[in-house]
Amino acid sequence: MKRLAIVVPCFNEEEVLPITVPELERVIFELIQAQKISVDSQIVFVDDGSHDQTWPLIEHFTDSDDHVTGIKLSRNFGHQDALIAGLTSVVSSFDAVVTIDADLQDDVNAIKQMVDCFLAGAEVVYGVRSSRQTDTWFKRSTAEGFYKTMNFLGVHMVPDSADFRLLSQRATQTLLDYPERNLFLRGIVPLLGFRSAKVSYERHARVAGVSKYPLKKMIRFAVDGITSFSTAPIKLIMNLGFLIVLICIGLLIYTLVQKIQGRVVSGWSSLMISVWALGGVQLICISVIGEYVGKIFTEVKQRPRFTIERNLLQEQIEAKSSNK
Ligand code: UDP
Ligand code: MG
Repeated sequence: MKRLAIVVPCFNEEEVLPITVPELERVIFELIQAQKISVDSQIVFVDDGSHDQTWPLIEHFTDSDDHVTGIKLSRNFGHQDALIAGLTSVVSSFDAVVTIDADLQDDVNAIKQMVDCFLAGAEVVYGVRSSRQTDTWFKRSTAEGFYKTMNFLGVHMVPDSADFRLLSQRATQTLLDYPERNLFLRGIVPLLGFRSAKVSYERHARVAGVSKYPLKKMIRFAVDGITSFSTAPIKLIMNLGFLIVLICIGLLIYTLVQKIQGRVVSGWSSLMISVWALGGVQLICISVIGEYVGKIFTEVKQRPRFTIERNLLQEQIEAKSSNK
């Protein structure tokens, strides 16, 4: 029978964990009862350098529960890298992996449908939100704008799907073969290929705690997403440059004509405006290029994407094999 791992990244989630664990437990239990997954299936919590009681809680649940285990990262690496850490740890010993947030915003019952799709042969199953009513207006509209921009730039993501999905072992391995440091999973998963399916679900509000994605992190995430998939912004800058040169030629002719006709303009306002406008445009352009240079910088360093401090899953596997 197939072994399923549910990978849950957690960053300061002490408030939701006691609610999340029984919920996921129930799903695993029902799936085992229905004989869809094997009894060795596991829920793997990845503690992304939390400062609160998250890790002690994970350890506690690992001890009290056969289906729960945890991985502790040495510091906060961020959501995407925490997911990668989880996937890397489970890929060799599980047939399929579901990734889900700790806050129960995604419907845990959809996992059952995902498993059905997997058993029917799909290797990538996307969780797609049927509505975002429970997200704030701000989150909804910024997310919508982001998906539209990405689409416009030629990055085709599955709309309204986040990091709630199922990957087969083969798809996970393929994903992990992408070596880039700036990993934007949502953009890469559709590139994997394989047979895919979608499961739609209702997105709820967080059961407890606050979002770990403040505006600053959200903007960073969006900029990373765009610049790691598309060089369109650089082309845009080039076009802007051409446009400005054209305008300049026009202005030059205009100024010369004015001068020849002897109408000397005081010119202060136009001068000021062009100085500021051009200065601004130049700074933006440089920063966009800088963003790409920065990306190259982080890629060439080839630093590890995460560091594991403690791996309870590994410890369990080792203990089992020494008992045999
Ligand atoms: N998360 C993480 N590391 C971080 C930030 C978030 O592992 O640096 C986890 C967090 O614990 C949660 C998931 O990523 O399980 C999604 O975060 P959150 O629910 O705060 O984001 P939102 O749903 O508001 O976009
Ligand atoms: Mg959330």
